[in-house]
Formats: sequence, structure tokens, C-alpha cells
Amino acid sequence: MRSGSKKLEKGSLLDKWLNREKDNKPRKGIEPRPNGVSVPLSLGQQRLLFLQQLNPENPFYNYADAYRFKGNLNLDLLLKSFVSVAENHEILRTSFKVKDGQAFQTIKNSANFETSKYDLRNRSPEDIQKIAVTEARKPFDLSSGSLVRLSFLQLAAEDYLVVLTMHHIIFDKWSMGILLREVAETYTKLPNGEELEIPRLDIQYADFVYWQSQKEIEEKDLTYWEEKLANSPELLNLPTDFARPHRPTFNGAYFTKCFPEILSKKLQSLCRERKTTPYVFLLTAYKILLNRYTNENDILVGSPFTNRDRLELERLIGFFNDTLVLRSDLSGNPTFVELLEQVKQTTHEAFAHKNTPFETLVKTLKPERYLNHNPLFQVMFIYHNVPEMPSFGDDLELEHEPFDFGVAKFDLTLYISEKSEREMSATFEYSKDLFEEETIDRMHRHLENLLEGIAENPNQQISDLPLITDEEKEQFFEWNNASANVISPKLIVDFFEDQVRTNPDCTAISVQNSRFTYRELNERANAVANYLLSLNLNRKQPIGLFLESSLEMIVGIFGILKAGFAYLPLDAEYPKERIDYILEDSGASIVLTQDVFLGKISDETIEVHKIGEIITSARLDAPILSDPISKDDLAYIMYTSGRTGKPKGVAVTHGNLAYSTAARFGLYSERPETFLLFSSFSFDSSVVGIFWTLATGGHLVLGTRRIEQDLAGLANILEKEKITHTLLLPSLYSQLIKSIPKSAFDSLDTVIVAGEVFPTSLCKEHFEILPNVKLYNEYGPTEATVWTTAHRIILEDSGSKIPIGKPISGTKVYILGDNQKQVPIGVSGEMYIGGKGVAKGYFNDLEFTNTRFIQNAFDDTAEEKLYRTGDICRYRSDGAIEFIGRKDDQVKVRGFRIELNEIEEAIKQDTEIIDAIVKLESINEEIETNDETDVLLNALRGLKPEEADEVLRSIENFSDEEIQSMIGKTASA
Ligand code: AMP
Ligand code: MG
Repeated sequence: MRSGSKKLEKGSLLDKWLNREKDNKPRKGIEPRPNGVSVPLSLGQQRLLFLQQLNPENPFYNYADAYRFKGNLNLDLLLKSFVSVAENHEILRTSFKVKDGQAFQTIKNSANFETSKYDLRNRSPEDIQKIAVTEARKPFDLSSGSLVRLSFLQLAAEDYLVVLTMHHIIFDKWSMGILLREVAETYTKLPNGEELEIPRLDIQYADFVYWQSQKEIEEKDLTYWEEKLANSPELLNLPTDFARPHRPTFNGAYFTKCFPEILSKKLQSLCRERKTTPYVFLLTAYKILLNRYTNENDILVGSPFTNRDRLELERLIGFFNDTLVLRSDLSGNPTFVELLEQVKQTTHEAFAHKNTPFETLVKTLKPERYLNHNPLFQVMFIYHNVPEMPSFGDDLELEHEPFDFGVAKFDLTLYISEKSEREMSATFEYSKDLFEEETIDRMHRHLENLLEGIAENPNQQISDLPLITDEEKEQFFEWNNASANVISPKLIVDFFEDQVRTNPDCTAISVQNSRFTYRELNERANAVANYLLSLNLNRKQPIGLFLESSLEMIVGIFGILKAGFAYLPLDAEYPKERIDYILEDSGASIVLTQDVFLGKISDETIEVHKIGEIITSARLDAPILSDPISKDDLAYIMYTSGRTGKPKGVAVTHGNLAYSTAARFGLYSERPETFLLFSSFSFDSSVVGIFWTLATGGHLVLGTRRIEQDLAGLANILEKEKITHTLLLPSLYSQLIKSIPKSAFDSLDTVIVAGEVFPTSLCKEHFEILPNVKLYNEYGPTEATVWTTAHRIILEDSGSKIPIGKPISGTKVYILGDNQKQVPIGVSGEMYIGGKGVAKGYFNDLEFTNTRFIQNAFDDTAEEKLYRTGDICRYRSDGAIEFIGRKDDQVKVRGFRIELNEIEEAIKQDTEIIDAIVKLESINEEIETNDETDVLLNALRGLKPEEADEVLRSIENFSDEEIQSMIGKTASA
């Protein structure tokens, strides 16, 4: 930070603070340590030692930089100059030993640098890069006494790349400035015997450490941090490309882009206008970026600074880095300028209380510790002014080479470098455990868009600032229009009648041993239709169907549709209250049922008709005389959870149904020859089997109730009926595939899973057992007519989360943030659905309909509304969509949509109960646990018991018994 302070605005808060320290407080200098004392490690060094011991071979705390020397370089002289500088700075001769659990520094009399020379003339840039990276990544042994490595790579006669690698425990960025200046001074003056202008050191790094170890931390500083960081979130949940590993590798990469010159200049001038430093300005923008990526308002960012606030420390090489935790509250959608003021204030306060070392903070605040992410913050921000290179004489040019040696200590670090007013660049250092380069590339463009938006108008609310790129907008449009728009000219009854004409004697439906051909089914449906028409009913009232899974159920459905009515399925298993509620809410006045259920409908105003009698008493060949059916007439009403404490009837039109079915013709290469129907007809997943099969001349096999519990019976059906297609919940499929003999699946062509999250493990299982059976994941809410997206699952998917796929034909999806704007690829938002499948709304409930079905602001041409699902999803970069979870507390239990608050409300009806919380206990093995103990146990595997013990003790949260038990577990695992 201090290097940046030179360019500080006069009068800025930071500037005042820096000067106040120096002007008003003449303090006693740091004295040399007493002779012979054992020098401990500074607090920062202790942390690095600890981290390095945890990851002994990992180069993540190597500090490496590369410099290009062009011209007449005298290598011997250069090396000599380094050695000479080390004579001045003890820290370059220091190593670290541990005795009786205490770490201390030992200082040698002479420097012992690791050096190597490579002749790489005529070698490819890739080779050169490889060698440079290998040099920079070689681990150091902290006890060895050689923590400085000089690698000289000769690229041409007068061209050298010098890679300087130190362990961070003896070094920091500021030190590099000192080192280069002193080496340059020595290099240029030594040969002529000139006097060196190198400041004499009164104290050494070890003196500082000794002094620090005697010093107490100011109580008021600690209190500030305790208050400021109270109840901090555990983790900033950045959307990642890969699941966070239990044990990070710290493999990382850099990605740098320069800001356009005009943008840099605009930003600099805005900073002056707002009397703020570019540091605070860009940090504010970074926080907005993080907020938009995570949807979190409580954003903590770490920012390293060199804590050399005494003149005598400014001349020292050593590890003086400490980290400020800068926490901001982005709630309430402030404007950029308002947030800027807040961040300015926070930064000012943080610097005023900066003398609380990060390790003390962690010990005091005791955040939950995990080995796979940093406590308190996981993202960093660094702003630095690029320093000028010292001169190595007239015949030698020195340039800093950007150098990525492949480590990332944090999830994400944003470095802003300012070379000049108009030359600013942003580098993201990112963890390769979590991110792909493509994602970071997009992040860059989002940051730039955001900054452009701020430059345009800093008084915008942060949610209005632009983020996504034009390319992304185009992509979204393309993905929505990838498959041809199916506009079905026919209604479902027409499709069915076509099949009756062409395949009258083929089997249409069967259950156990009874079956109907297409002609038989059609005649009976006509009989039902005619009967309903003879009653002179109002088309606006649905016709209830209270039937078990039977041939009559399908007869009833087609009869109702052919007569131009909507069917209202009533599951005989539903509790009586639910049936009564649905009948009343839907205004149904007629119910078709079977003998077994007579008397189950208590409402006397409802006419109950026996479907069997209707069929037997009718003339089967009579034509139907219904008025024409329009695509806007309702086809069915299905009741599902409605987030209001009461189930809601979703009103689906003939148009919706025809489209939803026709969209299958394009996506699925095979029509369903024999479809086994598992779903109850009161779920819209039953629509797939019923209408797809009967619209395409297939044979629909109805499962009997609880068919899934009779595995032998089920195997028998699969084999006997030669089932080719089916659709079921993934949880059910997972059970069946494990327990039914493989031979029963011989005729199977396609399995569709839908309705809940598809567990990754099932993918492998499927392809192990049934490698030739096509597997599809379908997603969609009842409100968008059965399905919205689909994904053909392939074996290669088993390595990651299984997506729900891309929008089906005629359907458009929009993944929106809380600001109703499209979120970037990879970032999660709520799924909104538009297109031909969007239902009319909730039956007889305009008010609630208007809260969930909203105007489509993304497509001027679309007359349909957008349905707001409450599902949180995100785009993968290939356009497939991932389902993340729910925005509310809706859950799925065996395919039932349930609102937990609906249950809570019901429980609270009991007057003795004041409040209730309902939670879903999942036994799904795939639910990720972030249990600290698990994470720790994994991390400790492979360590010796003594080492594990040491690690656990340093975390300080565990009792002796807990430590013993954990060590026992890792040993036995
Ligand atoms: P329903 O209206 O009963 O079909 O339930 C629709 C809801 O089930 C969706 O809004 C999702 O929350 C969930 N759902 C449906 N299909 C899937 C799927 N393939 N993966 C994950 N969740 C799904
Ligand atoms: Mg459904």
C-alpha cells in the first residue's frame, strides 16, 4: 500500500492518516535485540510456517518474479552484487528451525544462494517458460538456510531472463524494490570502486521480530475488529466451475487485461472528482462484481499491505505483509457513490486499526476453520503502482516480465496495476481448483462493463450497473432459439384420431391382462364425450376424474377432451380434505368415478357418475357433436403446491398440451413404441406417457398402484410387454436399476428421468448396467406444461453435476438476478420460462397468477407471459443449464411438490403451538456435507499422528478428546 501512497491525493483520508502517524507521534525507535536471545518468528512468519508445514511440497508461498536483462550483462558481477546485498540484510541468510515445538530463526554468516544457469539460446518460448516455471516452483526447505534462488536463463547472446525466487517467509513485494535498487547500485558502482549509496541498517528484520514479540496488541484495535467482523459469513460462495476440493492444490493462473485508455482516464478523473483513491474506487467496483456473482450483500475482501509504518522498517527486506479484512454491506441497493463512501470509511477505519495482525484476529474471532478455504475472506484485492526499474547502467536494459508460475493462494485475487493515468490493467489470479480460464475471461469483461457503467453514471444503483456482455446476450438468444419452433397445427385429440384411423386395431392401452385397441379406446371415449355433451354443461367447469389407474381412466381423459372440457384428475389416494378442497376450488360439478370410490365424495352438490355405466349404456359408434375446440380452451387442471398455504390449480390449454407433446417429436429420435406409465395421472409427468404415446400410435402400458414395490411383477411387465420407453423419478430409477434383473430391460430404448435432481452417481450406474439405453433428464414445472429443458445424459457427464439441458423447442428460458436482468453465464439466478408451454395461470386466481406469471420484457414479439419458477439455475458455458436449488422452501418428496411453510402453517393451527419450523431430512447420499470434521479428517489423512496432533492443536477449536478421536479416525481410515 505504501508504494501507492506516494500518489495519494493530498488531504485524502488515507493521506491524513499516514501523515498523522508520522507527524504527531515521535516514537522510540526499534532497538537491536539483546545479544544471544533466541529470535522467534514474526506472527506473519508463524502463519506461513504453519501453512507450509501443512503442504510441505507446495510452492504456494514461493515468491517469484522474472526480469529480462537485455545488453551486456556481467553474470558474475550480478551474482556478486546479490551476495553483497545479503551481507547487509540478515534475513537473506536466515532459516527456520523448530525445537521442542518452538520455531526460531537462525542466521548464517554468509549467503548461501541456490543458483542455476541455463543456456536456452534457440529454444522455443514454451521451453523457456517451462524452465522458468520449474525453477520458481521448486519447494524450499525452510530449515535449510537457502531461501533465495537465482536462475539465469540465457535466451540470446545479449538477452537474459533472471528468475528470482524466494520463500515468502523472508520477503515481500516491497522487499523486491529494495533488493533491486541495492543490487543495481552495487552492480553499477562496485567495478569502479565507487561509494555505494545504500542506507546503513541500524536494525535487522530479527530485531523487528524481537520487538514485535515484546509488544502488546492494543485492546481498542481488537475491539474494533471484533465488532466489525462479528457474524461474518463463513464463505463467499462464488459460482465455481468445479466443486471445491477438500484439500486445495493451490494451483492457479493469472489472467491479465489492460483497460481501454479512455476508461482508465475516466476512472482516474472520477477518483479526483470524488476525492477518493483509485484503490478505494476499484475495490468498490470489485465488491459490486462479487455481489452480482454471489447474490450476497455481506462481502469480505482481504487486502494485503506492508506494515512498515516506521522509517527504519522501510529499508528492511523481510516479510512485513499483513492483511486487512474489508467488510462491506451492499444491502439496500445503494448507488455506486453511496457504496464508495462506505468503502472509503471502512478502509479508513481498517487502516486506523491495522496493527492487529491477521493471525491474532483469527485467534480472537475464531471463525469456523476449514482446510479448504481461508478463514474470514477467500478473495483478495491488491492495487499497486508499477515502480520504475532501477538502472543497471547504460549498456543494460531491465524490464519486469509478467510471470505466472501457476499458484493461487486464494480463490480469486484481483490485482489492479497502474503504470500511469492511462495505463491500468487488471489481473485475476484464480484457483484452478475452482475456475476455468474461460470463466475468468468473462469475469474480466464483466468487470470492464461494470466500470464503464460506473464511469457513465456513478449515481446509478448498483443493481442497475451493466454486467453481461453483448456476446452473452447473443448467446442467450441463440440458445433459446436453437431448436425449431414447433407450432402444432393440430390439437392432441386430432393427433389421437389420426392414429385411430391409421392403426385402428393396434393396441392402444393395457393394464395387466385387459387392453383396448385404438378403435376400442376411441369408441368408448366418444361415448363419454357424447354423454357429457348431453348434460349441457358449462365448458368453463372442469370434469373431475376420480379413478384408479385403469383403462377407464384413459377413456375418461379422452372423452372429456373430445367433448371440449378440461379434465381434473383426483388421485384416489389423496386425503379426503384435499379432494374436497380441489373440488370446491375448481368449481367442478361433475365427477366421473368407479364403483369402489362411490361415497368418497361427500359434497352433495356434485354429481357423481359411474364411467363404467356411461360406456356400457352408450352407442359406441355415435359421432361427437361438440363445438370446435380452440387452442385456448383448457385441457386439464392439475393441483400442485402453491406457496400460499393452499394447493393451486394450474390451468393448461389444448394449445399448451399439443405443443408440449409435439416438441417431443423433434428431440426424441424414436417414438415410444411401448411406454410404461409410472406416474399418477394427477401429476403432469403422466402427460408424457399418455399423450406422446397415443399421439404417435404407441402402446401405453398402465402400471397399477404401487407397481414399483412389486419388483417381480414389474420385471414381468417390462419383459412381457417389451417396454421401450418410460419416465420416472431418478430416485425410483436408481432403486429399480439395482434390483431388477438386467434381462428385464432388454427391449428398453429410452429412460427419461424427471421431477427432481438427478444424482451424478446414477449416471455411472446406468451406463454400467444399461449402456445401450438412452437416458434423458427432463426439467419443468407443471406451470410450463410438463417440460421446459432436456438433456441427453452421456457417460462423460458422470464427472460433474448433471445438467437439466437446454430449452426445448418453442420454449425460452431467462435466468435472472433479483434485478430482473439476465445474469452472466455460470452465475446463478432464478429461472423464468416463456414460450408455448406457459400455462394460462392458476385456475380462478388472477391475483396469485399475476404474482407468478409476468410480462415478458425480453421478447417484444412474445405474446405469452413469463412464468417465474423459484428454481435457481445457471448456464454452463456450453448452454446447458444446471439446476442449483430453490429460492424458497419448496421441496420435492417422492415427486410431490411440498411447501414447508404450508406444513408449518398447518401445525400452527394448533393453538398450543406458537411457532413451527419444518425441515427436510435428506438421506440423499449426494447432498454435499461441508462438515468441518469431514473436511479436516480428509485433510489429515497421510499425516503422521504427531503431525496431525500439531495441526489440530493449532486450530484451537478442539478438546483433547476430540483431537484423540480424530487422529484415531484418520489412522484407521
Ligand atoms: P412439478 O410442477 O411437480 O413438475 O415440479 C416442478 C419442480 O420440480 C421444478 O420447479 C423443480 O424444482 C423440480 N424439478 C423438476 N424436474 C427437475 C429436474 N430434472 N432436476 C431438478 N429439479 C427438477
Ligand atoms: Mg412435473
